[in-house]
Amino acid sequence: MRRFACLILIFLASLSGVAQSQKPAEAAPYKNQTLPVERRVQDLLGRMTLEEKVAMLSGADWMQTVPNERLGIPSIKMADGPLGIRSWSGPSAQTNAAGARAQILTTSFPASVAMAATWDPEVVEAQGRAIAQELKALGRDMILGPTVNINRTPLWGRNFEGYGEDPYLTSRLGVAYIKGVQAEGVIATVKHFAANNQEFERHRVNAKIDERALNEIYFPAFKAAVQEAGVWSVMSAYNRLNDLYCAENPFLLTDVLRKQWGFKGFVVSDWGSTYSTANTVNAGMDLEMPGGEPMKVWLQTPRVQAAGNGGGWLASEKVLQEISSGKISRATVDENLGRMLRIMFISGLFDKAHVATGEVDTPEQQAVARKAATESIVLLKNTGDLLPLNTSKIHSIVVIGPNAAVARTGGGGSSLVRPKYSVTPLKGVQDRAGSQIQVSSVLGVSMEGEDQSKDTPAMREQLLNEAVGAAGKADVAILVVGRSSAVESEGFDIKSLDLPAGQDELIQAVAKANKNTIVVINAGGPVLMDKWIAQIPAVLHMWYGGQEGGNAIASVLFGDANPSGKLPVSFVKRWEDSPAYGHYPGENLQVEYAEGIYVGYRYFDKRHVEPLFPFGYGLSYTKFAYGDLRVSSSKKAGQPVEVSLNVRNAGSRAGAEVVELYVHDGHSSVDRPMKELKEFRRVNLSPNETQTVRFALDPSAFAYYSTVRKDWVVEPGQFEILVGASSRDIRLKGAVNIN
Ligand code: BGC
Repeated sequence: MRRFACLILIFLASLSGVAQSQKPAEAAPYKNQTLPVERRVQDLLGRMTLEEKVAMLSGADWMQTVPNERLGIPSIKMADGPLGIRSWSGPSAQTNAAGARAQILTTSFPASVAMAATWDPEVVEAQGRAIAQELKALGRDMILGPTVNINRTPLWGRNFEGYGEDPYLTSRLGVAYIKGVQAEGVIATVKHFAANNQEFERHRVNAKIDERALNEIYFPAFKAAVQEAGVWSVMSAYNRLNDLYCAENPFLLTDVLRKQWGFKGFVVSDWGSTYSTANTVNAGMDLEMPGGEPMKVWLQTPRVQAAGNGGGWLASEKVLQEISSGKISRATVDENLGRMLRIMFISGLFDKAHVATGEVDTPEQQAVARKAATESIVLLKNTGDLLPLNTSKIHSIVVIGPNAAVARTGGGGSSLVRPKYSVTPLKGVQDRAGSQIQVSSVLGVSMEGEDQSKDTPAMREQLLNEAVGAAGKADVAILVVGRSSAVESEGFDIKSLDLPAGQDELIQAVAKANKNTIVVINAGGPVLMDKWIAQIPAVLHMWYGGQEGGNAIASVLFGDANPSGKLPVSFVKRWEDSPAYGHYPGENLQVEYAEGIYVGYRYFDKRHVEPLFPFGYGLSYTKFAYGDLRVSSSKKAGQPVEVSLNVRNAGSRAGAEVVELYVHDGHSSVDRPMKELKEFRRVNLSPNETQTVRFALDPSAFAYYSTVRKDWVVEPGQFEILVGASSRDIRLKGAVNIN
């Protein structure tokens, strides 16, 4: 009987929607740009039939939402990020600018981990703007980025897509990216909420994380995205968190995101991550992606089935059924859809002509990619005076390695961008070296899994001998080693921290043949170096540098640019030293984050484990001197604490230094890390120049998350202020009393 009454109600309601639709659309308040957004949302909802509303809760296809012609509701057209705009194909690839199925070639920016190594929110914001401009040039509205998941283990296949191991650095850069994107009226999507920290069994695994670690490590970048950047969209993660799938997790999507943080945008599912209808809708998951026929076909493929993707649960027939069974209320449908419509109004989707504007891969966008790539390069070791290369003494250079003559611009998976051009390290070195220096190249070893014909014992020996021979004849040997987008990718974790097959042996052999050997690592994170680092005078990390990576590394090698990147992740000596070792990838689909808040340098400090290179580390061709630390001596809780210091370029070359400020609470009633990053600043200094760096430390810099109070707490007492050039190179110490 109740069910019958319900059906009648639904029927009557849909009739009323049809009746509304007879009114002239031009006069409709939702079309009136001068009215408040809320009024427009409610007016539009009032004109829609239930079926029309429900149809919009899941996508139209792979990359767009369901439009409504009758009411003139456009679809939101999306594109993958975060490293740039992903090249994709298939029906959703149709854009206003390019023909159907045309290859979409866009600017390839450095991977996010490289962007993090710049410690430069300004360049990240510029990247966000550039990506948004390109997106508009392709007639699209929403970018699926940034990724702000924390680098919990160096083996995560998607570490290159995130901003490293520290929640504060990740927050600053995530906020910058979102601000850049949304300043252009494009919807940014912070992802993946929450705790998608491994690819292994990502569709089934249950991440068990304690409340404090969630709040102190895994949540801050999402919270900052919501509260500081006003992000318009959040993507839920594939995995389960503390037993519930993220896409049907009311704790995450309603309690934390909306009630605690005040999120006003909409939640989109990760692609194929839903496993229920009513629970998903009721948890506050607003838009299921993908949808329609493409989703159905995709879900049937054996690969997707084996992986464990879920999807199709918010298809109209299923949602309507749950409405008639009373498990989903019509008010919830209005709320969920209302959140998406609200952002469509706010971002101007209803009011602007939906046509492509602007261009892709302009000189300005290329310049951002080049600047970021240059700033991201980290000089790890430089003994002797090999670097920067002295062109008056060098007559020949050989560039060796599987990553020398190939531009490895990013890792694999949904973030892979296809640029119009890309510069290989070899090309960068050739162009910079000019005609006075002879530049040659040999492969040395082929990239693991890339070319079977070069992977026989005989061929391996031949390639190695060629490399040794060439290295012996050249003044300088530059080895460009690392991973590829097939070795380091979304979808699976990295097999081992060792360099891919044959590369360690290549480095060892070349180092014996030429004492002027430089190793350049081209990968998304740390690799093990114990087999050769003692024999190599100079080592650089160039991450995945995007399309300008080759030019960037050349400008650093030749000293046109002074290296200024710093590590956004700790580099371990061996995998067994990693905080997550023993608790990754879990057993029986359960992964316990047993290290709690002790992630990255927080762990190495606390457990007295020596990293190979610490968080925040990076050398320069000049020297910086720190002095004159001033800290407000005492402050009332809740007030900012002023800190100032002087940094001087004490060398003879211009350069940039990243000043890092850490806080230590020695009097806490709970266990706290030895130090936590709470501020940083990148400063450019000419030789002998001194700059005063001033910080106003936010009161939150002193707080920990109390699981008893369910809130952030500052315990009165003395806090140490540690300022330095890395997490293990503290140059100045001060203290403040908070009372
Ligand atoms: C990834 C997301 C991505 C989506 C759409 C998923 O597999 O996890 O980051 O945005 O695909 O391509």
